[in-house]
Amino acid sequence: MSLSRSEQMSRIRGRDTSPERVLRSALWRTGLRFRLHARKLHGRPDVVFPRHKVAVFIDGCFWHGCPKHYVRPRTRDEFWSSKLRENVERDRRQTLLLEKDGWRVCRYWEHQIFESLNEVVESVRQALQDGEWNPSASWRVVQVNPQAGEGDMEQRLMEDLRDATTMRSVFGRRSTKKWKRT
Ligand SMILES: [Zn+2]
Repeated sequence: MSLSRSEQMSRIRGRDTSPERVLRSALWRTGLRFRLHARKLHGRPDVVFPRHKVAVFIDGCFWHGCPKHYVRPRTRDEFWSSKLRENVERDRRQTLLLEKDGWRVCRYWEHQIFESLNEVVESVRQALQDGEWNPSASWRVVQVNPQAGEGDMEQRLMEDLRDATTMRSVFGRRSTKKWKRT
């Protein structure tokens, strides 16, 4: 079984504190039992509850366009722009395919695992319960356009994870808040 990028990085650093690992331990502590990457499922979710058909993904803040932490790289603008859009579109495709097959898809940002783990665990528990389940909207940065003039301003375009026609555009100073674990 191949390891995710952050898991590989954790191994290299010699301690296994990847967000996947942190979430799995927390779920395990609350008595929830699950399976790891289900190879046959779209996108290979990080955690899977086959009986309840709940799939959990952890999305890295940079690669998947976290509204709080996506930082537009200064170089190779076109490369990074198309990379970002591809990633968000892949996330959307995987999510919609799974949901069409009757799965409940929970996607969390890497920063949520470290900042609000209890809420994440609670939200997984909600998804595991029978009855209504309404996944909340999840904004993804899909494009950042630097603005001419002073002040290092940029336009950030965002789309909803599940619906590309739900969009918003925000103008502001260039975001430099990368997600960093403290
Ligand atoms: Zn983030």
